[in-house]
Amino acid sequence: MESAKETIAFVREFYDTKGFIPLHEPRFRGNERKYLMETIDSTFVSSVGAYVDKFEVMMQGLTSTKRAVAVVNGTAGIQVSLRLVGVQPGDEVLTQALTFVATANAIAYNQASPVFLDVDRDTMGLSPTAVADFLEEFGVIRDGICFNKMTGKRISACLPMHTFGFPVRIDQLSEICEKWCIPVVEDAAESLGSLYKGKPTGSFGKLGVFSFNGNKIVTSGGGGAIVSNNLDYGEKAKYLTTTAKKPHTYEYVHDELGYNYRMPNLNAALACAQLESLDKFIEAKRKLAENYQEFFKNSDVQFRTEAKEAEANYWLMCVQLNDRKERDAFLKYTNEAKVMTRPIWKLMYKLPMYENCLRDHQKNAEFLEDRIVNIPSSVK
Ligand SMILES: *Cc1c(COP(=O)(O)O)cnc(C)c1O
Repeated sequence: MESAKETIAFVREFYDTKGFIPLHEPRFRGNERKYLMETIDSTFVSSVGAYVDKFEVMMQGLTSTKRAVAVVNGTAGIQVSLRLVGVQPGDEVLTQALTFVATANAIAYNQASPVFLDVDRDTMGLSPTAVADFLEEFGVIRDGICFNKMTGKRISACLPMHTFGFPVRIDQLSEICEKWCIPVVEDAAESLGSLYKGKPTGSFGKLGVFSFNGNKIVTSGGGGAIVSNNLDYGEKAKYLTTTAKKPHTYEYVHDELGYNYRMPNLNAALACAQLESLDKFIEAKRKLAENYQEFFKNSDVQFRTEAKEAEANYWLMCVQLNDRKERDAFLKYTNEAKVMTRPIWKLMYKLPMYENCLRDHQKNAEFLEDRIVNIPSSVK
């Protein structure tokens, strides 16, 4: 496998090591240690503290949104965001099958059903055409609420995901969903710092959700953030994720079923230090992407780049092989050589818990599932 062999040599030279090369590892070269120590010295290690507040303000700035709420992880953030826009048990939520399982799980935690619609080939994210086609065929609006004519269920949200940090066509999706009275929540877990038409991903939907898990572009160890330009959603997100506690000087007043989905101050301290490095990380990743692009130019392996109106964070970089057979050979060859590569996710309706969900033709999702492979993407 010539292309795999050359890739291994290129990656080894770039990272300058003969050892194992992971897909993505975090870098702690800023104020991480300092902020963590301060947290311990202050005794505020748990769910309230200065770094939680600071983290929220930093996230508002980075995403150009009015309110950010720190949460325990991205999945919990999506779950709560869906509930906030009105997703109820028995509803349907439009999303893509080509995603990490957490997207679908967050829908299922609300006892709603994902409806899997196809992605665009270039963005690898939810296709506006697929959403429009589905709604033309099955959608009906009654009293300002969208229903699925075939199942009789409410279609109460749309949850697109920005795959590997490549922005979806979020403006077109928002426009279509607006017409059909469907609120959009962005699964921006992978796309912190990515821009679409110059605007941060996560800021287009009613709510957007980011993840700070250990493998993401920046990490808090574990954590997430909900962002919104709607202050009511922001306030409600904070309230629901902090056990639905009403402010009171000494009494415990909880007037709704809330969650303990808070991000501990320890994690927020790490997140703040990491966010300070975000620009540098993105710059380094975009540079690596350029190098990869140049390297793969004359290869039969295609390096995937951002679409025209998008500026990706290049969190996880990927190549497209010619077919599944070549994909598998490439995966085997590189992993055996201790250069970590991974296939894109198995499509959600191929997992037992989602095999009976509604879906469309999935032409592009199937095409990409057979061909896309992530390659080492860490900042050097
Ligand atoms: C990482 C990720 C999540 C979940 O984030 P956690 O913080 O790990 O819960 C959700 N969706 C996508 C697409 C992700 O990649």
